[in-house]
Amino acid sequence: MSGKSLSRLGTLRRRLLAWYRSSARPLPWRKTHNPYRILVSEVMLQQTQVNRVLIHYRRFLKRFPTLRSLSRAGTADVLRAWRGMGYNNRAVRLRNLAKEVCATMGGRLPGTVGALRSLPGIGRYTAGAVACFAFGLPVAMVDTNIQRVLNRLFPAPQKGSDIWRTAEDILPSKNAYSWNQALMELGALICTASSPRCSDCPVSALCPSAFAVRSTFRKPAKAEPGKDGIPDRIYRGRIIEVLRHLDGGRSIHVRQLGKRIKRNFTAGDLPWLRTLLSGLVRDGLVFLRARSGNEYVSFAE
Ligand code: SF4
Repeated sequence: MSGKSLSRLGTLRRRLLAWYRSSARPLPWRKTHNPYRILVSEVMLQQTQVNRVLIHYRRFLKRFPTLRSLSRAGTADVLRAWRGMGYNNRAVRLRNLAKEVCATMGGRLPGTVGALRSLPGIGRYTAGAVACFAFGLPVAMVDTNIQRVLNRLFPAPQKGSDIWRTAEDILPSKNAYSWNQALMELGALICTASSPRCSDCPVSALCPSAFAVRSTFRKPAKAEPGKDGIPDRIYRGRIIEVLRHLDGGRSIHVRQLGKRIKRNFTAGDLPWLRTLLSGLVRDGLVFLRARSGNEYVSFAE
């Protein structure tokens, strides 16, 4: 990096960190370094808006305050505690990870990126987030918000330049925690995807993209697969709801299940229902059992 670039980077860091100190939202996972709590927040935030996570994060941790308590939970209990979050397979993956850590690592999440990435369901970003936010390691990370902010602050000369490399090159050796959080917060609050607020941005004077990013409107969402105008996603949620309310983890006949989740369910809907169930089986959420020529559905254990 040239002297000029280094000086720009130094100013950018100072301004962004000062803005973060004064403007960061007091999110509960920013008040802890407990690796399990950080991991739960990261998994919840993967596909869910912060406001919704705020509602469910404390409830989930109250029910499962430690990794060990989660590792002992059955699928039905985990999904009850996850209720309202959607994408239920994340909850089951998290429980499976807890089981693995308790079985092979004495119930303590490891403190390095390499060891974290060896765990089931943990990718590069999540490993970096736990290593940095829980263990204080100076690790670069790239999530959707950071990627967008870096692409605007450091436009790549060529398409396909490695955004992870950029994140690593600009990571300060001290204060990596606040730096990563600040980049994410800027992306969430100011440098948003559809309408960046450059006039409120603490680093606009240093940003080559300032006032040049056009506000964009979200593309209309693609039509989701579904039945009778209702997306399959909703039906999958209904299946989980029905199973949640079965006493003692009992099973339910496939046809009865169909009638509980869809009005006017007929035999013609069975292939469609089986496709939905196959997806849930693949995600480790439900179990299909054949008995005397009939099929029954229950939560997977
Ligand atoms: Fe994003 Fe605008 Fe700030 Fe650049 S000046 S980082 S485009 S909000």
